[in-house]
Amino acid sequence: MQNTSDVIVIGAGFAGLVAARELGRKGLSVQILEARDRIAGRTWLEPRMGRTLELGGTWVHWSQPHVWAELTRYGIGVVTAPEFEKAYWHADGRLHAGTPDELMAILDGPNRSFLAPSRQLIPLPYEPLSNPAVKEADQLTVAEKIDELGLDTVADELMRSFWALNFNGRIQDAAYTQALRWAAAAFHEWPVMFETCATYKVQGGTQALARAILDDSGATLTLNTPVAQVRHDEKGAVAVGRDGTEYTARAMVVTVPLHTLDGIRFEPELSAGKREAAERGQLGLGAKLWVKVKGRHERFVAMGPQEWPLNFVQAEYLDAESTTLVAFGPDGRAVDVEDAAAAQEILRRWIPEIEVLEVSGHSWVEDEYARETWPMHRAGYLSESLSELQRPEGRIHLAGSDYANGWGGFIDGAIESGLTAARNITEQLHIRQRQQAANPARWAG
Ligand SMILES: Cc1cc2nc3c(=O)[nH]c(=O)nc-3n(C[C@H](O)[C@H](O)[C@H](O)COP(=O)(O)OP(=O)(O)OC[C@H]3O[C@@H](n4cnc5c(N)ncnc54)[C@H](O)[C@@H]3O)c2cc1C
Repeated sequence: MQNTSDVIVIGAGFAGLVAARELGRKGLSVQILEARDRIAGRTWLEPRMGRTLELGGTWVHWSQPHVWAELTRYGIGVVTAPEFEKAYWHADGRLHAGTPDELMAILDGPNRSFLAPSRQLIPLPYEPLSNPAVKEADQLTVAEKIDELGLDTVADELMRSFWALNFNGRIQDAAYTQALRWAAAAFHEWPVMFETCATYKVQGGTQALARAILDDSGATLTLNTPVAQVRHDEKGAVAVGRDGTEYTARAMVVTVPLHTLDGIRFEPELSAGKREAAERGQLGLGAKLWVKVKGRHERFVAMGPQEWPLNFVQAEYLDAESTTLVAFGPDGRAVDVEDAAAAQEILRRWIPEIEVLEVSGHSWVEDEYARETWPMHRAGYLSESLSELQRPEGRIHLAGSDYANGWGGFIDGAIESGLTAARNITEQLHIRQRQQAANPARWAG
């Protein structure tokens, strides 16, 4: 019958592609339905400003086991950025300049104190709820815990800015446990965590990895197909596209971001716990902006107060005539990704003579298929929502970096979650037994 497969995967981001590959390699027929005209979701390698730029997810690290295994599997390397030479920080109403080590030294003590409980509270990063004491800590916010540190003004402002950067959002409601989870995944060492976030890029771009996984999946990919409705029962599920086309399968992986989950009408509805979590949402709602400036600058890093539209900048590509910077801010709606003059006004707070030639980026929070950047959670999410979001409902399995245990929010988390969904479906559909029956010799012993 037309439009019938063993499994439907909604969304061709890393979670969806990995789930499709795993299920495809088990011999199942997999149909991927993707709303956009491209794969890779919140990662997007695009020709902009004379180079190919990562508009979304970019950096990977060997501390991230799932993405590293994928790179190994497909023989894809990483690109290393040169060392930073200079640092600027705006704090206590003044501009400071120094070496990157001097900036790191200001953040070192506060971050060590702030993250010290990670080993005790989250001893197993991939089982973030293994210590029951984490539930109490999950009610605390990043802002409250920084208050407790009693820092001097410069360190206090930099700590708040650093965590607004990590959350790509405001830290008032930010879960302290989310910060601890990052530290735990980085071996409880904040410099490893920092290095993980913005040092090594995928050779050929994230697109190269996404394409390799898709090519290995045997799945049928249908682009430009936003799913509007999902009907499901104990035997299977039907996805209905916005144009009314129906796709039927025995199981379904839904990988849409948390902030877009309410864009699909589920019948029967998802559980109250899942709906509440989607309604509450998460805090990664910031901006990432690429900025091309005149002349070759030193490789610098710059931090400003968390209230600035762009509170973190690093020089990423140094050319003879220009330098390409990447900047982040905690509020996506405060940054116009086409406004070069606005970017220049902010950059001149660090480097008065800097001249912006061009800017580029993508407004993820305005994008109806994302509505968020990297998921960073509110206080209470870990203890109240994560397990419920991970719990399959009949034949419906949510997957995505929003729902990961380890490096949630990262490409690694998306892959982890896609693997888990595929394993759960394999068990649900008794695939091993089916393969065993089909080929008893292979399974003998
Ligand atoms: C600006 C930015 C910077 C980031 N930086 C990093 C980084 O440096 N390193 C890192 O590891 N991670 C980073 N991330 C996070 C990382 O990119 C994501 O966590 C990861 O790519 C998410 O993968 P996913 O499969 O869970 O979700 P997505 O990639 O969002 O995939 C979901 C897919 O579902 C599709 N979809 C949505 N709604 C529908 C619908 N109704 N019907 C059909 N399809 C639908 C979407 O189009 C999308 O393709 C960043 C993200 C952003 C936005």
